[in-house]
Amino acid sequence: MNSHLPAEFIVKVDHYRCRRCKRCILNCGFSALKFENGVVAEHHKCVACHRCVTFCPEQAITVEENRLAYKANAHWSVEVRKNILKQAEQGGMLLTGSGNDKPYLSYFDRLVIDACQVTNPPIDPIREPMELRTYLGRKPDSLGNNTAWNKKIGLDTQLGPQLKLETPIIFGGMSFGAISLNAQKALARAAQACGTFMNTGEGGLHKDLYPYKNNVIVQVASGRFGVNQEYLDQAAAIEIKIGQGAKPGIGGHLPGEKVNQEVSETRMIPIGTDALSPAPHHDIYSIEDLAQLIYALKETVNYSKPVGVKISAVHNVAAIASGITRAGADFIYIDGFRGGTGAAPNVIRDHVGIPIEVAIAAVDDRLRQEGIRNQVSVIAAGGIRHSGDIAKAIALGADAVAIGTAALIAMGCRVCQKCYTGNCSWGIATQRAELVKRLDPDQAAERLINLLQAWSLELKEVLGALGINAIESLRGNRERLRGVGLDDTSLTILGVKPAGQ
Ligand code: SF4
Ligand code: SF4
Repeated sequence: MNSHLPAEFIVKVDHYRCRRCKRCILNCGFSALKFENGVVAEHHKCVACHRCVTFCPEQAITVEENRLAYKANAHWSVEVRKNILKQAEQGGMLLTGSGNDKPYLSYFDRLVIDACQVTNPPIDPIREPMELRTYLGRKPDSLGNNTAWNKKIGLDTQLGPQLKLETPIIFGGMSFGAISLNAQKALARAAQACGTFMNTGEGGLHKDLYPYKNNVIVQVASGRFGVNQEYLDQAAAIEIKIGQGAKPGIGGHLPGEKVNQEVSETRMIPIGTDALSPAPHHDIYSIEDLAQLIYALKETVNYSKPVGVKISAVHNVAAIASGITRAGADFIYIDGFRGGTGAAPNVIRDHVGIPIEVAIAAVDDRLRQEGIRNQVSVIAAGGIRHSGDIAKAIALGADAVAIGTAALIAMGCRVCQKCYTGNCSWGIATQRAELVKRLDPDQAAERLINLLQAWSLELKEVLGALGINAIESLRGNRERLRGVGLDDTSLTILGVKPAGQ
């Protein structure tokens, strides 16, 4: 069928400035540029990954939205018409990558943080110690100390296994297959350097990551890719993945083209076969089933490491979180509907799930009401963009946050949302060898380390302004938040007062 789809972007080459070095042509992972007596663009192939723009030594290339392709219409938006045209041509489900980009209300942007003035002085983080360290894992409601006069003072209470985070930020699950091994190596190196954790996602653990085992969380998802005793042993914690914020309630599909020799060995599936993750775990249809898997995994690793559960933020997230806690999980990872993805159907990514802000508040409330909040740590994810979001997530009730898209952006991602094509020009969401080698894991790790360091410094400034000296004192401290322009129901659910009160 002939395509009537107008190009999304127009690539403009300034031929006066262009020195014909062809760097742009070599750099484009989507083959949108060719040389015919000069650089020529095939506009319909351009996805605005901006690799050519970044590496052109003469700034001779610009990429613009093809605005004139559609007449303006407030109801039949450009995106709506584009999608109808695509589906009329293809007859299939539309796929996308990255997170939800729709203009839903951001609760983070409607929350503001308190600061001390006059009667309750702030703390200067440059002069005073400021504690960002936190621990993830099940904790007792009270601690017993050994204070006998003739013994060394110590803790009497037996604590379960904990994850020690030097800063309350971890890297969320991104699988080998969805992202390149170089991207995973960068995440592992940065996690090790910053005293935090990266998560394998559901694609198994490549042997090159074994040296980072103390900073790796391995995932056990519905496809069980790469899961065996060795896999579980090479990690600091285990996460059972039930759902993902970008695609709640559905499974995953890594196309066979991406399953090369290394991906096949790591996932333990044949080369070139589609890696299908079923929507449910076929052995989990109740909280009791989940409890059995948690128990089995803990038995397998001899209760030496925390076992957590990752879920998407959905309408009854609080009740589900309560069940997960009672099933014996040591942490719950909640992924809001702005969470990123390598590939998801548009309709699911953009219309299913709830924002992470309300999910954190609802879960924290429910666990407190049931007196089980200490039995589990809560990790919040799904669109965390900066240290302000982190402070607000923790004040709403999270113990720590996880980032995905922000980490990819730090490594070079331009959020072109074409991860599912496997052609990422930046060497991140691809398995094409010539593209993967563009991402230097050491340089990418340095960028990630800088990002975590910068956000950690900013978090200390926020704590100082609040007059508190430990991130754990901010957890669930909603009194230090106020809502701006939020309706009464939203304020009630979030458990915050309106600004001015
Ligand atoms: S990278 Fe820039 S200077 Fe080099 S060929 Fe492309 S447009 Fe011309
Ligand atoms: S990872 Fe690559 S393909 Fe995916 S959004 Fe970023 S730049 Fe685009």
